[in-house]
This record gives sequence, structure tokens and C-alpha cells, in this order.
Amino acid sequence: MARSARNAEYTKDYNRKLFLRLLRTGPLSRSEIARRIGLTRAATSLIAEEMIEGGYVRETIATDKPLGRNPVPLQLIGSAAYAVGIYLNRSGCRAGIVDMRGRVLAQTELAQISPEHMDLLSQAISRMIEAHGIPKEKVVGAGISAPGPLDGENGKILNPPGFEVWHHVDITRSLRSRLDMPVYLANDAACMAQYCLGKKETGGSENYLLLLVDSGVGSGVVIRGKTLKGAGFFTGELGHTSIDLNGRPCICGNNGCLEAYASIPNLLRGSCYSTWKQVMDGREDALAKELFQREMDYLTVGIVNMANLVSIDTVLLAGDLLYRADLTASALEKQINQRLLRREIMPIRVLPSCSGPDVPIQSAAELAFDWFLRA
Ligand SMILES: [Zn+2]
Repeated sequence: MARSARNAEYTKDYNRKLFLRLLRTGPLSRSEIARRIGLTRAATSLIAEEMIEGGYVRETIATDKPLGRNPVPLQLIGSAAYAVGIYLNRSGCRAGIVDMRGRVLAQTELAQISPEHMDLLSQAISRMIEAHGIPKEKVVGAGISAPGPLDGENGKILNPPGFEVWHHVDITRSLRSRLDMPVYLANDAACMAQYCLGKKETGGSENYLLLLVDSGVGSGVVIRGKTLKGAGFFTGELGHTSIDLNGRPCICGNNGCLEAYASIPNLLRGSCYSTWKQVMDGREDALAKELFQREMDYLTVGIVNMANLVSIDTVLLAGDLLYRADLTASALEKQINQRLLRREIMPIRVLPSCSGPDVPIQSAAELAFDWFLRA
């Protein structure tokens, strides 16, 4: 008896979460939701009423069908829940408050940050929550996106090169005790890969690699609409796959890691260029042209290694590669498809990923929403 009651409650909760997850992709009618969840129209309407009453959802005006019984689309109410997004990288940290519809309400930046600054960071986050009058119980948690390798399951950053101050820091425990909310950690590229899922930038793909190149080289892989995760939430570390047996030693213990060549600082070391943007703007210059070609060659080897192992059909470019991504995408696409094992049956497309200044914060916050709505 108690067990069946628990099961009924669980199922109801499961359906509610699926319902909210679906609406996070945009407004949908009750019948469309019923079709996608696989519930009856009546059961979906019951959940809808409950969600409207609970302040999670509201009806919008149907505008696309002028005649007949218009299905009234339901829309999420942004203020129904919030999450904190924290984007930690080699040049500092950005943190923001994101509403249920994915909008960033406020953000702050800490240029110099180390594990000793956790009080400063948590105070800045608490101030943003208070300044927007957000009730604490509406904040479902905080997501941290950081360079890998990291142990997401145990909330620990491991040993990313150039990120020594954070090595082996249990950042989630440190923030959880200060913010008094659930805190999650994931690889920055994996967060962005998950964020792009279902968005038009993927070109409809559910099998893709997101390649993040900036001061490091990171990757996130989505297969059949799910982020690839293994033990310890360890995801694809493309930056630490070797492209040269006798190559440069890497702090990870391997030799010739892709990151040791293709991260922007490593690519430009010893040249007169200091940013990828300068290289792209100076492509008439012989050195810039050579650096661009060298980067395409490095990345092609890494991507082909990955694509011959995991059946992706699309590569999404992120980080510094978003600048003049059209040029990089076409150069990479051409080179990859000259070397790919299965090029004749399934060539790879290269596209720019979701862009915008807030994407790093939004994708980090998505970690917390994802846990909150995990069905
Ligand atoms: Zn390495």
C-alpha cells in the first residue's frame, strides 16, 4: 500500500519534471506535450492546471492558427525558479543568476580568483540574489563549469594545465557550505554541449562534438541526445589525446597532447600574435596564414581521431574559434572529410555553436536546472 502510494507520487513527480523540461525548449500546446511525453490529453491537462496554479506555467495567446479551436500554448514563467551559473576559467570567474527560461538577470566578474576567494564569490552571489528580491527557496542550485580534467561526481577539479592554483580543489563542497544550496561541477565544454542540445545551432543533430578552443582545448560529446559521461562523470578530454608520439610532454603525463599545440597560447607562442582574432584578421600576412593552417591541421587530427571512435555527424565550434567561425568551419570540414574513415557514408558538418556573451553562465546554470528537473 505504502509502496504503491510512493510509486504513484514518484510517477506524478516524474511526469511533472518531464512536463517542465519540455517547456524549457519553448511554448507548447497541451496536446503537443501529451504527444511528446506519451500521456493522455486528460492527464496532461491535470498537470498543466497544477503547474499554472503553482506559478510555473502560464497560457499564452495562440497566434499561428487564425480559425477553429486554437490550442493555447503553455509557457514557462521565468521567475518560477532560478539557478546560479559559475564559469571558472584560466582568466578568472563569471557568476550570474539565471531564471527558469534561461535569461541571465545579473552577473558579476572576479578577474583574480583562487580557492582562497570562495567567501568573496559566495558573497557576490548572495548579493545578486538579494538585489533581485529572489526568495532563496526558489534557487534550485549552482552549476560550475570549469576546464577539465575534473571529477564531476565528487566535485573536484583535477589537474588542468595552466590552472595549477585549482588542482585537486573540492570546489563544490567549499561553495555548498557557503551558499547552502546544491552545487554541481562539470567540464566547460560538456556544459556548452549540453546547452546547445535542441537548439538550431546544432543543425538538428543529436550526435555531435563541441570543440572548445581558448587557453585550453576542451570537448563535450552528445550521442543520441545525451551528454557522454562515464565513471566519475569523466567526459571526452580531446585536448589530452596525443597527436605526436614523441611530442611535447604534457602535465597530464602524456606526450604530444593536442592541447599542447592547439590551445591559442601554445599555438601563438613565439609569434608576434597574441590572440586568435589577430590571426584571423591578419590572414593576408604569411605568418598568420601559416598559423591558421597549422591550427586547422592540429584540430583535424584530433577531431578525426574522435570521429573514428564515436559516431558523431557534426562538430560545433566554441570559444575563440567562434570569431570568423565561417572560415574555420569550412576549412576544418574540408580537411576532416578528406581523412575520415566513413566520409563516403557519413561526412561531418562543422558549424558554429551557440554564441553570445552569456552562454558560459547560462550553460553552467543549466547543470543545476538539469539536476532539478532530472526525471
Ligand atoms: Zn595532456
